[in-house]
Amino acid sequence: MAGGKGKRLHAVTRDEIPKPLAPVNGTPIIEWQIKCLRENDITEICIVIGHLGEKIREKLGDGSALGVKLRYFHEETPLGTAGALAYLSDFIKGEDFTLVYGDCVFDVDIKRMATFHKGKEAHATLFVHPNSHPYDSDIVLLDKDACIKGILPKNEPRNFWYDNMVNAGLYILSGNTCNDIPTGRPADLEKEYITGLIPEQKVYGYHSPEYIKDAGTPERIKEVTKALSTGTVAARNLKNKQKCIFIDRDGTINHDTGLFCKIEELSLFPFAAEAFKHINDSGFLAIVVTNQPVIARGLCTPEDVDEIHKKMKTLLGEKGAYADAVYYCPHHPDKGYPEENPMYKIPCKCRKPGIGMIEQAMNAFNIAPELSWIIGDTTTDIQTGINAGLKTALVRTGEAGTDGKYNPVLDIESANLLTAVEQILGG
Ligand SMILES: [Zn+2]
Repeated sequence: MAGGKGKRLHAVTRDEIPKPLAPVNGTPIIEWQIKCLRENDITEICIVIGHLGEKIREKLGDGSALGVKLRYFHEETPLGTAGALAYLSDFIKGEDFTLVYGDCVFDVDIKRMATFHKGKEAHATLFVHPNSHPYDSDIVLLDKDACIKGILPKNEPRNFWYDNMVNAGLYILSGNTCNDIPTGRPADLEKEYITGLIPEQKVYGYHSPEYIKDAGTPERIKEVTKALSTGTVAARNLKNKQKCIFIDRDGTINHDTGLFCKIEELSLFPFAAEAFKHINDSGFLAIVVTNQPVIARGLCTPEDVDEIHKKMKTLLGEKGAYADAVYYCPHHPDKGYPEENPMYKIPCKCRKPGIGMIEQAMNAFNIAPELSWIIGDTTTDIQTGINAGLKTALVRTGEAGTDGKYNPVLDIESANLLTAVEQILGG
């Protein structure tokens, strides 16, 4: 979809070239897109052009120089984010297809996303991820199965805690989509089409930490240029092994009040958001792994813990930081408390120092343990890292390693989460 006017990018395009031809690190945005599509064996591409669109046709021609087959659909009048689809059924031929917007730079393993899409039998799959400004983004609400339950619009006030999960602007859509889009008038893909499918449970969110960014303003072009030139964009493709910093929660990110389960009690250490932000700006993923035996003890429910994590994500998001994922273990092996929940009173592989949560994350995000770290305040966290083959950092907050449960050899010890992250990233 390359027909937009790109007003926000006027300083770069001067209204002489269309936005998709704006150069990023020396190459037009649209050529970065085509390169990624071709690497995913997507070689039949229809470019929807509008304002100044003939310049795209002049530049890219039939696509043979880029190893793809291009055709063009010229919008005489702008048809919104989806209106052109109504005219493309002879191109799409009823097959599932990928839709991208002309101002996004991405390097994504789309085949992996397509496998997810097929597995869910979705009609629409949205590429979703946490971002650094959830407070002014539409938030996608996912259930445990990654089915999208709703979208919180950015312009509605939020007086509640919310997840940080945002639609990045890359879609896989059912071949039938073309038949459902009205002809002869502009149509909005998200507001008209996707929103209508949500009640039918046919829209899924594919959560991935791969690089995808809207390069639609001069500032963003600068950021994307930097990420391309340092290799971050390509390195984050999930075909490649990822590096991660796993982070314990209580005593490391927030004050540990002991068996804490009331949401009011959650208070982040003042340095926590900055620590996450440093990781977000590096090539590492930031993933929280926490034992929450309070669920097994019957002191709170999994929903209460989810709500606490929403609060954590909202507070981090307000400061421009995010966790790529959060895993918790609800179990505890010891029985005998009056209020306990027997469903969770079981031995498990996820309770640290077990490595079930780490393994789950490693599978979900193709993480290499030998490139990764764990940061925590207890010897249990350090032992978890050793069991999983990670490098380890103990912080002198929370229990500061005085729990005495294990006697592991650490890689580093540091004052707190922020200083630990600085040591790790500083090499
Ligand atoms: Zn567990």
